[in-house]
Amino acid sequence: MDMNTVTDLVPTADPADWREGDAWLAGGTVLFSYGSRTLRRLLDVTTAGWPALTVTDGGLEIAATCTVAELYAFPDAPASAGVRGAWRALDLVRPCCDAFVASFKIWNTSTVGGNVATSLPAGPMTSLTAALDGVAEVWGPGGGRRTQPVAELVTGEMRNTLAPGELLRAIRVPAAALRARTAFRRLSLSNLGRSGVLLVGRLDAPDDGGELVITVTASTRRPVQLRFGAGAHPDAAGLAAAIDAAIPPDLYHDDIHGLPAWRRDMTYRLAEEIRRELTGAPTGAPDDSTDGGRR
Ligand SMILES: Cc1cc2nc3c(=O)[nH]c(=O)nc-3n(C[C@H](O)[C@H](O)[C@H](O)COP(=O)(O)OP(=O)(O)OC[C@H]3O[C@@H](n4cnc5c(N)ncnc54)[C@H](O)[C@@H]3O)c2cc1C
Repeated sequence: MDMNTVTDLVPTADPADWREGDAWLAGGTVLFSYGSRTLRRLLDVTTAGWPALTVTDGGLEIAATCTVAELYAFPDAPASAGVRGAWRALDLVRPCCDAFVASFKIWNTSTVGGNVATSLPAGPMTSLTAALDGVAEVWGPGGGRRTQPVAELVTGEMRNTLAPGELLRAIRVPAAALRARTAFRRLSLSNLGRSGVLLVGRLDAPDDGGELVITVTASTRRPVQLRFGAGAHPDAAGLAAAIDAAIPPDLYHDDIHGLPAWRRDMTYRLAEEIRRELTGAPTGAPDDSTDGGRR
């Protein structure tokens, strides 16, 4: 896609350099596919040299410039050797990358930050980091810095809380979430299609609070999290009631990748599957149907 209005490519990750008509450029897989008739400069953040993935005392720091390919490699990389067994939630990394149905050329350039900043409902990096309570660090043009959970930063289809010139620097995933047991469910209308429904369940270890968290993405315009404290894990009807309360009908996404009614039905179904898988609830009880007793 030609971008005839762009006159400069500036290597910078300093928001003080940003001015109207600029866009941050990461992998460029969205910018160069969608094009633009208004942008004047592209500020190339990939020149920042931020380490892609850093294991810290608090968890995992994912640089905004970390590519999908780098993230995919992480569970087997030397950098994760010290945490591999303990961070069971690393099991989610590859299914979430695989939900990004694209060739190696796209995986090698697409970034985690670009995916979250694009804020598509089927953004698999949003699914992963929101489900693990990832917190975004955002740098502002005036020198300000703020943090916000990814689950709140993405507010709708291609909508988020990033103000003009704000730069997503990194996403920090807490170690407690990484220690959790997880369950992953994804549906698409076609074999290699974009996600229509993507749910991730997380059961934190008892020492980490024992919370059950189910994060709904792709099926809804923005991430929705259902949280149940230890001792308050729901039965099927309780889970269905929680979904009813959290997701009004018009929050289900509507595009070529799935009708809202289908996304809604599958959300209830997959959430219930996750509840059973993570809590060990029995399957097949007469009052425990996969629609959570909504009829
Ligand atoms: C074949 C193909 C399949 C795809 N499949 C999917 C899919 O399944 N799901 C999906 O969500 N997307 C998909 N995409 C879209 C796209 O590849 C991804 O969203 C990708 O992660 C975008 O990252 P990028 O680094 O290329 O972003 P870029 O194109 O560089 O930037 C995208 C947007 O984010 C902004 N931005 C980038 N980095 C930052 C930052 N650090 N801070 C603030 N703003 C920033 C840019 O200014 C721009 O507005 C697909 C694309 C292709 C070509």
